Amino acid sequence: MSPRKPVAAAGDEREQPERHPLVAPSETVEDQIITVTLRPTGFEHYVGQSGVVENLKISIEAARGRGEPLDHILLHGPPGLGKTTLANIVAREMASTFHQVSGPTLERPGDLVGILTNLARGDVLFVDEIHRLSHVVEEFLYPAMEDFAIDFMVDRGAYAKTIKISLKHFTLIGATTRAGLLTAPLRERFGIVHHFDYYTAEDLQRIVEHSAGVLGVHVRTDGAAEIAGRARGTPRIANRLLRRVRDYAQVKADGIIDREVARAALALEGIDELGLDALDRAFLRALIVQYNGGPVGISALAASVNEEEGTLTDVVEPFLIQVGFLARTAAGRRATPKARAHLGLAGNEPPRLL
Ligand code: ADP
Repeated sequence: MSPRKPVAAAGDEREQPERHPLVAPSETVEDQIITVTLRPTGFEHYVGQSGVVENLKISIEAARGRGEPLDHILLHGPPGLGKTTLANIVAREMASTFHQVSGPTLERPGDLVGILTNLARGDVLFVDEIHRLSHVVEEFLYPAMEDFAIDFMVDRGAYAKTIKISLKHFTLIGATTRAGLLTAPLRERFGIVHHFDYYTAEDLQRIVEHSAGVLGVHVRTDGAAEIAGRARGTPRIANRLLRRVRDYAQVKADGIIDREVARAALALEGIDELGLDALDRAFLRALIVQYNGGPVGISALAASVNEEEGTLTDVVEPFLIQVGFLARTAAGRRATPKARAHLGLAGNEPPRLL
């Protein structure tokens, strides 16, 4: 059963805020095109996540020293934080070929047989959204990961038989935004597990400055800082905001991005100085005004802002928790005094427009 966005009843006057595409976490086609240019190809250009990077460098050096392929790796954390990018870099460092598949597109074991049997020793198979693998595909992967062999059923009915195919020793790198949804047997098959955190404003500023250099965009330090501050700790969003501000600067400001230009361009889009969009603000406003700051259950909030619960828990709440606006407690969601102050709902100042 897939969760559907609630449909507003006729005559329902509630506002229906949507996630603004500029701060949506998932990858757009435009992102995919620009990624080819902006994606760092080596550790030297990969900014931040220093704990993960240092650990991976050690694992790589140790494996290389032994002349062995790397252990399977699980990378988990919110979308757009550089999991795919890092997996690419790992393959490059191991001088191996990178193959990429997406969990939900693999419906049957047959979808994987060709891919697995074509992997060379040491190759990296990157499985994005690994928590969305179907049950049968997941079980089919267990012996592939553990024994580098698969049992594959050929023919049907009376002629059906299972053949064992051995595989080369490959490295599976799984990426997930929902580590909690991984089954225990799958999780246990990863020798290396790393969590990705949101980036600091300083790291994002470096990413914006580097991307501006690659794109040939003139950005001043204060302009890069302004974009970084609104990027929700996420490099993918930082790069996207940079592209949007670049267009604005080209038309309105001789192509030069400084603080004022970045502010004006993003305010026009309804992205506030912390990177919150209309949906984030509607969520917080409902919690504060309708439910007096909580605690309130997620389903009541979902109904108030007319949005799916899954969208709220996956793409709205994590960042609001990160900036200290929201607390998830056993009794329900609570807004913090910081959230009230940000929205101008603390009771002692005029309401803000953004
Ligand atoms: P994920 O796989 O976690 O969803 P991606 O690896 O696709 O994220 O990263 C999205 C984009 O953000 C990349 O194309 C790249 O341009 C940029 N990016 C991500 N992480 C970094 C980083 N550490 N340094 C520089 N750019 C990064």
